[in-house]
Amino acid sequence: MHAKLLKSFKRIFNNEKAIESYRDFYIALCDWVITNENLFINELNNHKRLRMLTQIDLDEYDLSKNDLEYLQNFKNRLIEGTYKTTDDLLETIENELWDLIAIEADIDCDCIDSDPRYIVDPDRDNEVLIECNYCRQLYDTHGVKQNRIIDYYKPANNKWLKGRVKSEI
Ligand SMILES: [Zn+2]
Repeated sequence: MHAKLLKSFKRIFNNEKAIESYRDFYIALCDWVITNENLFINELNNHKRLRMLTQIDLDEYDLSKNDLEYLQNFKNRLIEGTYKTTDDLLETIENELWDLIAIEADIDCDCIDSDPRYIVDPDRDNEVLIECNYCRQLYDTHGVKQNRIIDYYKPANNKWLKGRVKSEI
């Protein structure tokens, strides 16, 4: 990938404020994507979820957790990562943002790297579902497999989950 672009990405973390909190970190990554998107507009088309993550209203989500060690590791992983292509970098950013914002669901996916997260389907009145971030299998909130595919979804927030899932969030 373009060395200049990678350099500019790594520069995000020169600003200590970027890793002061989950919210600051999330915003710093999104700002970088938005500021530079004209440099990778074609690649971004393959990352619809990343685009969605840069557009959601953060006030609807709880990013108040501040595990500074976790953020430091996050930062190191991003800086030390090797990105062959811009696509690789965008995928990494997308996954890190998802990891910060998507609430873990209390079910086990069949796959080896089970990583179930609550999502909502905005086309169905924000119906709450669970998607495995590793294998993309979809489940309902009781952990029953669903065979449909949703093109566009958002991470669920606490408000949407309240009363709609069995375990207390
Ligand atoms: Zn899975």
